[in-house]
Amino acid sequence: MSSKKYVYLFEEGNSDMRSLLGGKGANLAEMTRIGLPVPPGFTINTEACNEYLASGYEFPSGVLDQVFSALSQLEAHTGKGFGQKDNPLLVSVRSGAAVSMPGMMDTILNLGLNDETVQGLAQLTGDERFAYDCYRRFIQMFSNVVLEMEHNQFDEIVEKFKRKLSLIFDYEIPASELKQIISEYKLLVRQGKGSDFPQDVKEQLVLAIKAVFNSWNNQRAIVYRRLNKIDDNLGTAVNIQCMAFGNMGQDCGTGVAFTRNPSTGERELYGEFLVNAQGEDVVAGIRTPMPISRLQEELPSVYQQFLDTCQKLENHYRDLQDIEFTVEKGTLYMLQTRNGKRTARASVKAAVDMVSEGLISKNEALLRVDAEQINQLLHRQVDNSVKLDPIAVGLPASPGAACGKVIFDADMAEKLGEAGEKVVLVRSETTPDDIHGIIYAQGVLTSRGGMTSHAAVVARGMGKPCVCGCEAIKIDPPGKCFYIGELIIREGDTITIDGATGRVMLGEVPMIEPTLSDEFEALLRWADETKRLAVRANADTPQDAARAREFGAKGIGLCRTEHMFMAQERLPIVQEMILAESLEEREAALARLLEFQRDDFYGILKAMAPYPVTIRLLDPPLHEFLPDKETLLLEIADLKYQNADHLVIMGKEDLLKKIESLSEANPMLGHRGCRLGLTFPEIYRMQARAVFEAMVQLRQEKVETLAEIEIPLVMDVAEFVYLKGEILDVYEEVKTGSGVELQFVLGTMLELPRACIVADELAAEAEFFSFGTNDLTQTTLGFSRDDAEGKFIPVYLEKKIIKDNPFAVLDRKGVGSLMRIAEEKARGAKKNILMGICGEHGGDPSSVEFCHIIGLDYVSCSPYRIPVARLAAAQAKLNND
Ligand code: ADP
Ligand code: MG
Ligand code: MG
Repeated sequence: MSSKKYVYLFEEGNSDMRSLLGGKGANLAEMTRIGLPVPPGFTINTEACNEYLASGYEFPSGVLDQVFSALSQLEAHTGKGFGQKDNPLLVSVRSGAAVSMPGMMDTILNLGLNDETVQGLAQLTGDERFAYDCYRRFIQMFSNVVLEMEHNQFDEIVEKFKRKLSLIFDYEIPASELKQIISEYKLLVRQGKGSDFPQDVKEQLVLAIKAVFNSWNNQRAIVYRRLNKIDDNLGTAVNIQCMAFGNMGQDCGTGVAFTRNPSTGERELYGEFLVNAQGEDVVAGIRTPMPISRLQEELPSVYQQFLDTCQKLENHYRDLQDIEFTVEKGTLYMLQTRNGKRTARASVKAAVDMVSEGLISKNEALLRVDAEQINQLLHRQVDNSVKLDPIAVGLPASPGAACGKVIFDADMAEKLGEAGEKVVLVRSETTPDDIHGIIYAQGVLTSRGGMTSHAAVVARGMGKPCVCGCEAIKIDPPGKCFYIGELIIREGDTITIDGATGRVMLGEVPMIEPTLSDEFEALLRWADETKRLAVRANADTPQDAARAREFGAKGIGLCRTEHMFMAQERLPIVQEMILAESLEEREAALARLLEFQRDDFYGILKAMAPYPVTIRLLDPPLHEFLPDKETLLLEIADLKYQNADHLVIMGKEDLLKKIESLSEANPMLGHRGCRLGLTFPEIYRMQARAVFEAMVQLRQEKVETLAEIEIPLVMDVAEFVYLKGEILDVYEEVKTGSGVELQFVLGTMLELPRACIVADELAAEAEFFSFGTNDLTQTTLGFSRDDAEGKFIPVYLEKKIIKDNPFAVLDRKGVGSLMRIAEEKARGAKKNILMGICGEHGGDPSSVEFCHIIGLDYVSCSPYRIPVARLAAAQAKLNND
């Protein structure tokens, strides 16, 4: 009976077959194809896995036949026999999904050993210790992965023997003792499972394949997929491959390496090698591996071969590779390659370097770097000009500085982190079970493990600072503390870790703001040459404006004026204005505020000149400027109790009345935005005057400025026309007074659905539009942000009702449709009307792409997001035009 093809020999595949063969299988096939030394093997495809899982754990028909027929080809190839007593073929059974899921799935080595074949292997190799070491490892892995028994029960047995024999390393255990360990292992299995460890090698193989398929749905894998937004229906492939032995002596070993430094991007071989070891020993932190460069002294010919292979791989894949390999008696075997995970810094450097090396084009370099990830480069670092007093130093595993309370377990880290506390997760080493804690921690500190340990890899991927292998710290989990010599650091104490140097400091240390590297500048220059969208900043102060310019902003897309009202010396005047009983009183207060506002606008227009500055007139409801009602009530009670001056008390009571009269049931939809301007025109008149007078002053100083005066929360053209009249009236006054003509435009936010729908009418009057997508999202979805993000958006995400938080990633379908409608109507009425976005979405790569697609002129975001937006805008152009 002919059935579907489920099994592919490595010779039959290639790197384009990822979704069918998984990443590992496709790349093993590719490496085989280009002639690299890969132990022979084959891949059971992901379809087999999906059908197996869908059918309730039944193999689709034909799969096992194809497996055993492929296996007989391996036998023919190697001259060994699977289960053959005198010359046994041993294989590894390895999972491998289409998307790399490091450490998430399980692998079994040395499969094919049993009580008989182990003797054959010993005789054949003349190395009993080796043979029984393989068998011991196999029983342990198989029991763990397939029989689901705890790892540490087995570890304890090994430790017991090492103690008994006063040995330090596993490989020192002699064969005779290994045999006893194996007996104890088998006993453990019999007791735990009620049956003997399987001796039939075919049964071993089938059980192992099932276990890999099943592992697609283990808890760690599910969490990882959720975190990384990986589709649950991809399934995993299974790779079955002849073993290469790294545990046959001092000319053997196992290693992991990156073709470039994954932390800095430097072009140097980077990795670790463990002599006389197998598989995961190198990352498990059992023995400390040696840096890959030492291989040059220890095994020079292998080192040279390895260097050449790395070069070949980089040239072939045209990207930084993350490699796993084994050396058996001086011969190199490649076991895995994939595009290496790297820090943002390394990503930028490698991409730019590869352009100068002629390996990739500028456009490819722009697409290589994850726009969201470069946000990390804009994170704080430890200030190196200050003398620090490190209490310990570990390995610099993931750059950036993190400061927070010491927490020892992942659940607690998650709990506190979720509640907004800053914590540093401190562990002897991390496992995939700790991921949820790492997500919520500022950084990770481990006492064991190298640069390629789990903690290091995961932290780099997430852009979290990490110091690992910090052996000076002795963790006492039950005591909830760690020791460094005499020093005790308890749970809840604050520490700072510096992932760039590996230093650990007590308390909080001074940090500095980030600067851009030469490579980063180069990449962003290319981005500017490529992108169509302009990038502006949301900035309210001259300092923010200056920072935004450093990061490449070409203008301010949103200058909020309310923050200016909050400053300590102004708030009383603002309150006077709000509480004024008459227009006269209000105008007196406004006259004093005018002085301040003129300085504000002078500063910010100057800092951004000659680029445009969008100044939004006052937007929030007035009660935001008044004291909190409860506090005031208490204060009044207190004053009365103290028999304070009657007049003082009356003053406070008046204030209380005013606050009560201003309080609103639903302030987000209340008396705010242009509605303030319409009820108190003198406020907007004052602000407009401040802008114009500042511009007059700057003109006299020969500074060219461009102000865009913006009216918030407009829903109808009549609102706009009325306020436009007021502002133009003020302009006429200033012009007459100063004799200076100014360059300015008047426009509005589009942040209400109705405004989007009537954008054509608005366009007839306005000269620019800026989408305020925070409010537009609130009003379109009917989600009040403060309630939604805390209460039900997490539930919506969990239940997969929405894919992303709509306040972080623009809702293209709903909010986006309104934006499209507005864009078409506005441009229909006024072809070249300037349009941009100034919500927080302006710095989110997916939202930036949408703005590019619908043809906006600019995006505006917080100063620190500007490089992200510049790169995202270039990528949007490259991916869509
Ligand atoms: P993971 O996906 O967790 O990295 P792998 O399938 O890559 O798991 O296996 C882990 C390690 O096991 C490999 O890095 C390699 O050291 C070892 N290994 C796997 N297959 C073989 C093999 N055929 N020969 C020797 N070592 C192997
Ligand atoms: Mg691997
Ligand atoms: Mg708004």
